[in-house]
Parts: sequence; structure tokens; C-alpha cells
Amino acid sequence: MKRPITIAGAGPSGLTAAINLALAGYSVEVYEVNRTAGERFNNCFQILENYTEKEELLTSLNRMNIKVNFFCQPANEINFYDSKLTRCSLKSRVEPYGYFIKRGSDNDTLDQGLVEQASDLGVKIIYTTKLNQEKADIDAEGARSIAGISKEIVFDTNINNTFRVILDNNITPGGFSYLFAINKKGTIGSAVLRKFSQINSFTAKAVDRFQEIEKFEMKSPKEFVSYIDFFISKSAKNNNRLITGEAAGFQDYLFGIGIRLSIQSGYLAAKSIIENIDYDNLWKSQFTEKMKMSIVNRFLYEIGGNIGYTRFNKSAQNSDFKEFGYKLYQPNLFKKFIFPFIKIIWKDYSKCTHGDNCLWCRRKLEK
Ligand SMILES: Cc1cc2nc3c(=O)[nH]c(=O)nc-3n(C[C@H](O)[C@H](O)[C@H](O)COP(=O)(O)OP(=O)(O)OC[C@H]3O[C@@H](n4cnc5c(N)ncnc54)[C@H](O)[C@@H]3O)c2cc1C
Repeated sequence: MKRPITIAGAGPSGLTAAINLALAGYSVEVYEVNRTAGERFNNCFQILENYTEKEELLTSLNRMNIKVNFFCQPANEINFYDSKLTRCSLKSRVEPYGYFIKRGSDNDTLDQGLVEQASDLGVKIIYTTKLNQEKADIDAEGARSIAGISKEIVFDTNINNTFRVILDNNITPGGFSYLFAINKKGTIGSAVLRKFSQINSFTAKAVDRFQEIEKFEMKSPKEFVSYIDFFISKSAKNNNRLITGEAAGFQDYLFGIGIRLSIQSGYLAAKSIIENIDYDNLWKSQFTEKMKMSIVNRFLYEIGGNIGYTRFNKSAQNSDFKEFGYKLYQPNLFKKFIFPFIKIIWKDYSKCTHGDNCLWCRRKLEK
């Protein structure tokens, strides 16, 4: 008789764990504090990246028993702009660098797609109920403390198939802003790792800059502010509880593109229970190096300022964008050499909120 499993959080990591455990014959209950999965995202567009690993994303999802029953549009082109609004057209020619997906309560979102797959397998999802994480076998609560903050506006628009990113410290210091428009729906976002209190004015500036590139309508706007967490922990276990997704700090520190890591961690947590394998060994062998490289990437990204962003855009334009992204996350001698120094420069134990479990923190820049 397999023990019943309780999961806190119906995000991508919790639902992926639920799907895999249900497939293996476990009886699974998922608690979600909100009325539905992904509620806070307002059906925005996000990107499921396809560049940090050799394995193609769709193959990877299939291997992790996730069906693509949600909106999932290959992303092959995107325009990156610098502070002077100089455009660089980035293209991936062989395989997409990612897939545009939607997040929220609409039927075609990633969240509702995962809910449907889990429910079809008999997973019980209990909404509007907060589960005390100590009662969970899997803690998939999402970000608990703030490493970065993002504001998004979701709207109806008259432009179509527009994918733009602006890297400009005058708008989003150390961060970036983006405009994705598909099928007359648009998402504008701005993301920063510091100066959190100014997020509204950063987003307003980002809207102005995107309008400067090309005028477009923004009808029925819905706004929300949300945050991401990032840290490298000694262990993603607490007693027998397995911690997945952003609750365990599994994120990309360069651009906050963490869904793939969340899905992978949910899969690994399920695998650890089903096959009785140590969860920490599983995630460490797959994530640690990649997360360390994302710290080095962020350091190099920030150090060059606006001049560095212009260079970043040009080198991305001169390469295949998926290959460019892949190389960014591969450890090389230089990146391995500078990593310990970056840790020393950035680490500030006094303000870390992740406790003794944290092998990484950069709290001193958070204001
Ligand atoms: C504005 C924004 C844009 C983003 N864009 C991208 C992108 O383009 N690409 C990308 O890869 N990543 C992106 N991310 C990051 C991505 O959303 C996260 O990495 C991912 O959702 C984390 O998944 P998760 O399962 O760990 O947690 P979450 O998705 O945060 O899910 C956790 C769930 O648990 C629920 N919950 C919390 N506590 C409890 C409790 N005690 N009991 C019951 N329920 C609970 C929450 O309500 C939530 O639904 C973005 C993040 C933000 C904020």
C-alpha cells in the first residue's frame, strides 16, 4: 500500500510532482491557497526556455510525463534593444530558444493544463486552503522571500506577434523590461533585483519606451506585482519534507526564467519518493552548476552597465540565440575561477532570510 501524499502549492512544481506520483499509483492531494492555479498571473505570456539544456524542451516535458495540452508557441525570434533603442534581432535557426506560454486561469494556460492532467489522474486539488507546510510531504509554496520583483500589465491590443526586450539601466537598473504580444493580447513587464519601491515608475517608463518604438493600444489593462526568490541551499529537504521550485530557491538568477527548473524539481521530488532515491543528490547533480552559472552571468551582466548590454545584444544577434543561451550556462574555466570571488563580494549573511540552509545570498543590494 503506497502512502498518501500531500502537496502544498498548485504551481508548476507541485502539479508536476502530483502528476508523476499519481501515475505511479499514489493517492495525491494538492492544496492551493488561491481560487485557482496561477491566479496571480492574469493570463500573461511567459517563456518556457529551451536553451539551458541540450535536451529539447518538448522531449524533456514528455520524459517528465507532462503533456502539452496548453498554449505553447515556438519562440524563434525576438528583438532586444539597448538604452538608445538600437535594435538587435535575435534568431534561433535550428530549434526555438523557448516557447511562449500563458499563465493564469484561462483554459489554455500552463497552470490549467497541468491541473487538467493532474485531475484526470485522480489528483484531488483543494482550493482556497492554505496548508501548513509542516503537514506537507512536498512543499511547493513558491517564492517565500524576495530576491527580485516584477510588475506586469496584461492588456488587449491592436498589435500582433511582437516580442521585444529592453536592457536599459535608466528604466530597470540591473533588470530588463519586455513586451510580448500574441493574438491581440499583450504583456508588458519590468523586472529588477533592487530598488523594489520604484517598480511602478520603472514599469511606467518601460511602457513609454515600448510606445516610442511603435505605438500600440493598451485596453482593459490588469496589473500585478509579484516577486521571485533565488538561493542555493545546502539541502532541499526539511525532515522528510521535500521542497520544490522557487520555495527551494530553484530559479535563474540572470533573468528569472525559472519554470523549467520548477517542473524538473517537481519531477525529481516524485522520482525520489517513487524510487526511494535521495532528493538532494538528484537536484544537486542537475541544478547546482546551472544555478552557479546564472550567478556569474548576472555579475557579468551588471558589471558592464548599459555599454555591456549593447555588447550583449550584439553578440546574441551574431549567434544562434539558442546556442548563445546554452553557452551562457556552461561552466568554463573563467566562470569557475571568478565564482568564489563573486560570492565573497555579494554575500551578506546578516540580511539573508534563508537561514542556515543558505549557501548563497546577495541581500545587501536589496533596497
Ligand atoms: C511576473 C513574473 C514573470 C515571470 N516570467 C517567467 C517566464 O517568462 N519564464 C519563466 O521560466 N519563469 C518566469 N517567472 C518565474 C516563474 O513564474 C516561477 O519560477 C514559477 O512559477 C515557480 O513555480 P513554483 O511551482 O515553484 O511556484 P509558484 O508558481 O509560485 O506556485 C506556488 C503556488 O503555491 C501556492 N501556495 C503557497 N503557499 C501555499 C500554502 N501554504 N498552501 C497552499 N498553497 C500555497 C501559491 O498560491 C501558488 O499558486 C516569472 C515570475 C514572475 C513573478
